[in-house]
Amino acid sequence: MTAPPVVVAGAGHAAIQLAASLRQGGHDGEITLIEAAAGLPYQRPPLSKAYLAGQMEEAALPLRPASFYAAQRVRLVEGDPVVAIERADRAVRLASGARHQYGHLVLATGGGSRRLPVPGADLPGVTGLRSFAEARAIKAQLDGLRRVVVIGTGYIGLEFAAVAALRGIQVTVIGRSPKLLMRRVSDVLADHLAAAHRGWGTRLILESGTAAIHGTARAEAVETRDGEVIPADLVLIAIGVEPLVELAAAAGLEVRDGIVVDDHLRTADAAISAIGDCAAFPMPGRSGLVRLESVQNASDQARAVAERLLGKPAPYDRVPWFWSDQGPLKLQIAGLAGGHDRAVLRGDPAAGAFSVFCFDADRLVAVESLNRAPDHMLARRLLAGAPRLTPAQAGDAGFDLRAAL
Ligand code: FAD
Repeated sequence: MTAPPVVVAGAGHAAIQLAASLRQGGHDGEITLIEAAAGLPYQRPPLSKAYLAGQMEEAALPLRPASFYAAQRVRLVEGDPVVAIERADRAVRLASGARHQYGHLVLATGGGSRRLPVPGADLPGVTGLRSFAEARAIKAQLDGLRRVVVIGTGYIGLEFAAVAALRGIQVTVIGRSPKLLMRRVSDVLADHLAAAHRGWGTRLILESGTAAIHGTARAEAVETRDGEVIPADLVLIAIGVEPLVELAAAAGLEVRDGIVVDDHLRTADAAISAIGDCAAFPMPGRSGLVRLESVQNASDQARAVAERLLGKPAPYDRVPWFWSDQGPLKLQIAGLAGGHDRAVLRGDPAAGAFSVFCFDADRLVAVESLNRAPDHMLARRLLAGAPRLTPAQAGDAGFDLRAAL
């Protein structure tokens, strides 16, 4: 008997991995990916890094070549968003009016850039950086830019700031928090990154905020909450991501900061799952629900749902990890550092390569590695088990971390 059709709303990192894993596992039923944007689904991480810096061609951005879809019998409907889920009929309706029947529906709609509620935020010359279209438009302007203002001190803003500053553009970053990355990383790492950005000529205005963006036909300046007016040819707003949950909410599924799923990534409707940036899920060892924005999370959740649909259900328990490239700095983080009570340094920040081992009540919860990839790889293995590493061992350069595995 042929497996019932799987329909996926969204065709980003999570959806493409799901389709690939289903076929790899032998799923013989129909797979349909429905994507709001037109064109081949693409990778997002390079948009604020290699692509923007001119080190990666557009042709390298698609997640899979066009031939993948035909070869794997994956139907890609692009440029036609899902506008409604008709749960009673197990069907989705698209903007074009088309309907697709599902045996299982996976919501993989990701998120959109959070909007900044200040006057002038809609002026031309103010942009987010989430889609290829936005990245391409920014890239096309880079040569002519002299001054940019980045609002937000998260990863995407900092990656863009590094690209711009290292091209000689005058960059100002405005943030509300006293530290870069809003206390989601250790102070040691945040301070090191701040020093690096300053070293590239970027001005950081922390513990402030944006009152308004000024300009007539186009953005010309940003006014901080403290009343300083900073001229800008381009303003990047990068203050976070809002999960796209409207479809789920309208269909009566529970949403909080994300579409609520259980430890198998199922919504309350057993025929509907949610994965990736849009999903809020329970994580072993943490209270409440977690929503993560990373390629690892999107890909591993896709693999987990594929396994379940192939008849091998298991609770989702992958160690989260993440990377960010800022100029020459290669940052890799395993685990979640937010909320740690002790940070132990290994390596030498002055030499530009170190790791920070973050503990919560003497339990290792995250490892941040800067230009120290071997530590990161080991950290992922450590965190996947019940790590026996003590803070003293982590800080002892002579201690072989493999002994704690
Ligand atoms: P997405 O990849 O966002 O895909 C969701 C898709 O759903 C979108 O294509 C959207 O158009 C579509 N969609 C939405 N609503 C509908 C609808 N109603 N109907 C049909 N389609 C719909 N992560 C890292 O781990 N490392 C990095 O260095 C990193 N850098 C990043 C840099 C940038 C500039 C950005 C934007 C993100 C970065 N990320 C990074 C985050 C990573 O890209 C996301 O976590 C990942 O894309 C999430 O995958 P997803 O499939 O859940 O969502």
